[in-house]
Amino acid sequence: MFDSLLGWLLLPLGIVLGWALSRRMPQPEGQSLSTEQLGGLLSHLAGDDPDQAIAALTQAAEIDHSTAELHLTLGNLFRKRGEVDRAMRVHETLLTRGNLRPQLQHQVRYELAQDYLKAGLMDRAEQMFQELAAQGLFVTQSLEQLVAVYEQGRDWKQAMEAARRLEAAKGESKRAVIAQYYCELAEEARRAKNLPEALKLAQRALDTDSSSVRASLLLGALAETAGEFAEASRFYRRAFDQDPRFLPEMLAPLQRCVEKTGDMPGFVQFLNDVKAVSGSMLPVVAEAQLMRREGLDAMGLLSASLERQPTRAVLTEFLDVLEKRPEVVAAGLEKSAASLRQALIKFGETSARYQCGHCGFNPRQMFWQCPGCKNWGTITPLDESVRLSGS
Ligand SMILES: [Zn+2]
Repeated sequence: MFDSLLGWLLLPLGIVLGWALSRRMPQPEGQSLSTEQLGGLLSHLAGDDPDQAIAALTQAAEIDHSTAELHLTLGNLFRKRGEVDRAMRVHETLLTRGNLRPQLQHQVRYELAQDYLKAGLMDRAEQMFQELAAQGLFVTQSLEQLVAVYEQGRDWKQAMEAARRLEAAKGESKRAVIAQYYCELAEEARRAKNLPEALKLAQRALDTDSSSVRASLLLGALAETAGEFAEASRFYRRAFDQDPRFLPEMLAPLQRCVEKTGDMPGFVQFLNDVKAVSGSMLPVVAEAQLMRREGLDAMGLLSASLERQPTRAVLTEFLDVLEKRPEVVAAGLEKSAASLRQALIKFGETSARYQCGHCGFNPRQMFWQCPGCKNWGTITPLDESVRLSGS
């Protein structure tokens, strides 16, 4: 309450006083706000009565052209304070005046469109931003806002069109985000069980942005669904080549596919290549699983890895091996090992698995557009997020 009152006293008073002082200079046109009206306006603002202040200002505006700028500033201030209804009322009132300078009128329309956006009146916001952009006014700002409007409405085709216009207006590439829209459309087709369409759109995403990890993972998943396991393996490996941080996303699907194709030597080679270029312990887990499947003892590999860099993934695999060893079963310790392993799995279920490199948001599931900062492609998997060494 006190903060609110103080805000009303300081911010608008500063604006009005600054404006009033500037009005002491001779003005070429119109009459200045009378001392009486200015006094009324100030007392309403100081009394935390913004509606009366708006009324006083509106009355003043009828006789003074230049109060329009004060209207504009006050309206923007309302919006910044989250009082969108008041912001709209001020800006709409201003637009009804037929004698605004064109430049000021354009500015008011742009501000009003932002009011609509903030109020959730998406249709009105969209229409006004479209009109402004079509008239060559506030083009890049309006297109940026349109992109946000369409993204919020998950209208990917319109978002794509606005992004292309923005690309042309700003002269900077938007291909990464356009590829994301193609992926969104491909995901929609996939959910609708239209596999050929999903494939076509995902391929278009990769053609638009050859570094799109999402397109590679999606093409891999689509090929896997179609039973094209060799093709799927190629796409999963491509995702790793594009961005090694996505190893936790592609390793298990790749392993699934090579089990179908039988290309185990190729997979082992891949694991060795990964070990050479990354500090991840995930290849060790995958290698241990392969050894166990062939009836080999993976204990040595896992314990050596734990000594080098203790991670939850390796320890979970280690305990799984341990609880099945005859000497552990003979000592009746297998249940203890199993409980510890289950506790580790549960612990992993409540830990963050991803992180946004832009805002630090830590979701448990993958988002290609960060729900926090709305950036695309800034979230990456956390590889074995909890290091048991605490480092
Ligand atoms: Zn973010």
